[in-house]
Amino acid sequence: MTSSRNHANAAPATPHAGHQAEAGAQLTIDVAAIVENWRLLAERAGGAECAAVVKADAYGLGAEPVSRALKAAGCKTFFVAQLPEARRLRAGDPTSTIQVLSGLLPGTCAAYAELRLRPTLGSLPELQEWAGFCRANGWRGGAALHVDTGMNRLGLRREDVAPLADNPLLADGAGNLVMSHLATADDPGHPLTARQLGLFRAVRQQFPLLRASLANSSGIFLGADATYDLVRPGIALYGGNPTPQHPNPMRSAVRLVARVLQVRDVPAGETVGYGATWTAQRRSRLAVVPVGYADGFLRAASASDRRREGAVATVAGRPCPLAGRISMDLLAIDVTDCEDGGPSRGDPVALLDEAIGIDHLAERAGTISYEILTSLGARYARVYA
Ligand SMILES: *Cc1c(COP(=O)(O)O)cnc(C)c1O
Repeated sequence: MTSSRNHANAAPATPHAGHQAEAGAQLTIDVAAIVENWRLLAERAGGAECAAVVKADAYGLGAEPVSRALKAAGCKTFFVAQLPEARRLRAGDPTSTIQVLSGLLPGTCAAYAELRLRPTLGSLPELQEWAGFCRANGWRGGAALHVDTGMNRLGLRREDVAPLADNPLLADGAGNLVMSHLATADDPGHPLTARQLGLFRAVRQQFPLLRASLANSSGIFLGADATYDLVRPGIALYGGNPTPQHPNPMRSAVRLVARVLQVRDVPAGETVGYGATWTAQRRSRLAVVPVGYADGFLRAASASDRRREGAVATVAGRPCPLAGRISMDLLAIDVTDCEDGGPSRGDPVALLDEAIGIDHLAERAGTISYEILTSLGARYARVYA
């Protein structure tokens, strides 16, 4: 990191070099790490097919570049949440299986067929509308039957499913996958996890001709009881820890580096930022960087006199705490303890890196890594590595 000062003003020569030099912060997305994570998850899933969940623009990291790289690595099935997301993905990928997770909105069957997408049917009205469309149009593009086993969000109730097992509604490609979703997979000791595993085993036996899918990222680590024919990892692909009770087996996929706008010294006793919530306990040196909550750097990760444990920045290899509230476009880092007087104007400081993972920042913001990633702002210069 000591040489970083020399590189700070030299933007890499890429087509976006101008934007990179002008942007306050650069977000580097390590697509190779995402591919490596997918391979690890595929291995952990045993013989099951490993799909990729790329909803919400691949958790904010870019559905197109991410899915392109995963497809090249052998991934054949992609999950999104909503039809417009699937439409965008299909435009660049004519061949992969694309499944939309969040139910079937009325009147959308024709769009699914036209784009060769698979809906996830989670209620009897959805199933009836889809089956009627398939029958009337001879469409056999497939769909998933989503059975609720305890999430109580989407999904057919089990008592509605029992009579369906040999129902003509499911013939002729109207359904080809039976799935459910785990509510507490990241907490293997939770009684609901065992209950859902048991219920899904019974559901699966009712539909012997359909493929089965239960596991999200954390579910894969529950082992053979959860992996079935197809697994659906999301967050673990992007570096989130699927086993919070254990060290993170996944590689970090994002690096966020901001540049110092100015360095200033604050006398002991003065406060920093909105609300005057952080008081300098000694003469303090601050580095101010152009990243704020408008960039998705959540205000809840601020530091105050009452709560010093805000977000952390890496400055020349050293972890440094924030000082005061994160505002819309700016935040201040306490660099008093840095060697050689700390960073200078223009120097890089990391807000997410190998040392400060998305789970760490999430913990400091009182949230989860999913929200950290899906909040990543549009003002960052994005680089795909
Ligand atoms: C989002 C989602 C996933 C992926 O979950 P992760 O916890 O990110 O691995 C899998 N299945 C369904 C139904 C989902 O909505």
